[in-house]
Amino acid sequence: MSKSLQAIRGMNDILPEQTPLWRYFEGTVAGLLDNYGYRQIRMPIVEFTELFKRSIGEVTDIVEKEMYTFEDRNGDSLTLRPEGTAACVRAALEHGITGGGQVQKLWYMGPMFRHERPQKGRYRQFHQIGLEVFNLEGPDIDAELIILTWRLWAALGIRDAVTLELNSLGTSESRGRYREALVEFLTARLDQLDEDSQRRLKTNPLRVLDTKDANTQAALVGAPQLADYLDDDSRTHFEGLKARLDAVGIPYVINPKLVRGLDYYSKTVFEWVTDKLGSQGTVCAGGRYDGLVEQMGGKPTPGVGFAMGIERLILLLETLDKVPESIARQVDVYLCAFGEAAELAGLALSERLRDALPSLRLQVNAGAGSFKSQFKKADKSGALYALILGDDEISAQTVGVKPLRGQGEQQNIAWDALAEHLATHVAQG
Ligand code: ATP
Ligand code: MG
Repeated sequence: MSKSLQAIRGMNDILPEQTPLWRYFEGTVAGLLDNYGYRQIRMPIVEFTELFKRSIGEVTDIVEKEMYTFEDRNGDSLTLRPEGTAACVRAALEHGITGGGQVQKLWYMGPMFRHERPQKGRYRQFHQIGLEVFNLEGPDIDAELIILTWRLWAALGIRDAVTLELNSLGTSESRGRYREALVEFLTARLDQLDEDSQRRLKTNPLRVLDTKDANTQAALVGAPQLADYLDDDSRTHFEGLKARLDAVGIPYVINPKLVRGLDYYSKTVFEWVTDKLGSQGTVCAGGRYDGLVEQMGGKPTPGVGFAMGIERLILLLETLDKVPESIARQVDVYLCAFGEAAELAGLALSERLRDALPSLRLQVNAGAGSFKSQFKKADKSGALYALILGDDEISAQTVGVKPLRGQGEQQNIAWDALAEHLATHVAQG
């Protein structure tokens, strides 16, 4: 017997019960970004592998072991995008939209792919909403990114559940000097480091700072601090960011170990974390990447951005019971028609209703059926009212309007008065 067909592990179907919450979430974010003057960009899901190697860096977890890379029929090496920044920068360069210092405030949304160990809040296909700003170098725009996420958390009702962690990585020069000091310090303690950290000491030593290994953590006590190596420019930038967050009243925690997984960050890095989701607690992460565009072959162009993980935020809304009730109801009114004449009259009436009330969510019964079966479907649809049409109603040119959620008795309403009747009653429901 053939094996039954299944989705790939870590790649989820988002079922119809869940899509209303996704659309609510995505719609809330999109509306907010519109209001702050960000414009959406849509990039392909597949890019040349070289793009990610050059932007993310060869010695990162993503490029070393998480990418879905394959050869296409031309023999080109392609990769399913593991994140959005690389493609966004590529698109900006390709279309010249950041040339001449043009400011761009962009956002995107969609699936990302990483071959990680699937678990709660960590999947192989997951979704991000990301935001990138080009050609603004001051801390004011870093602050704006954080301020708008802060507003988003309030709109979603989860502000109390998330904490902002901040750090500054300095410029690549100051980070270079720090890296030397850290490598010297850790090399003297090499035998206390776990295997991964020993390897990272050679390839990407700052990553040792966010190790999960207890022995390595112990070896890090007394290590040189990045903050002591910051250049004046980065220090002033960081102070400027903190002053703005203070002005708006956004609390934050300075986390000197926050270095982020990707190579390309400079100056500001931040994460919004929650303790409500277990170990997959980072719901939004980002920072400044002033060197990236140049590294990818463009003119020096300051950049700053972040990405939030939609699955984790959806999980958080569910965990905290912050799913708005209003999104649960998908149907306002369900029309039941009994007999062929009623079906025809019902169809005409339904289209008149849709003309009069464009936002009415009206489901017309399909597949005929007895009184009992049609009412059962009406009830199951979640509608507030069933509309009932049979031979009697047709001759009287009325419709039975039956409340399904216990709001009073059935009424007979004339066809001409139906739209107005529903407009008031559905709005109240
Ligand atoms: P983590 O430390 O959790 O692996 P990351 O640093 O790799 O995260 P980023 O590349 O910064 O993550 O991506 C931004 C956000 O996207 C994360 O904060 C998280 O919310 C989400 N995210 C990243 N990887 C996954 C994944 N495999 N499954 C679900 N969400 C993810
Ligand atoms: Mg990761």
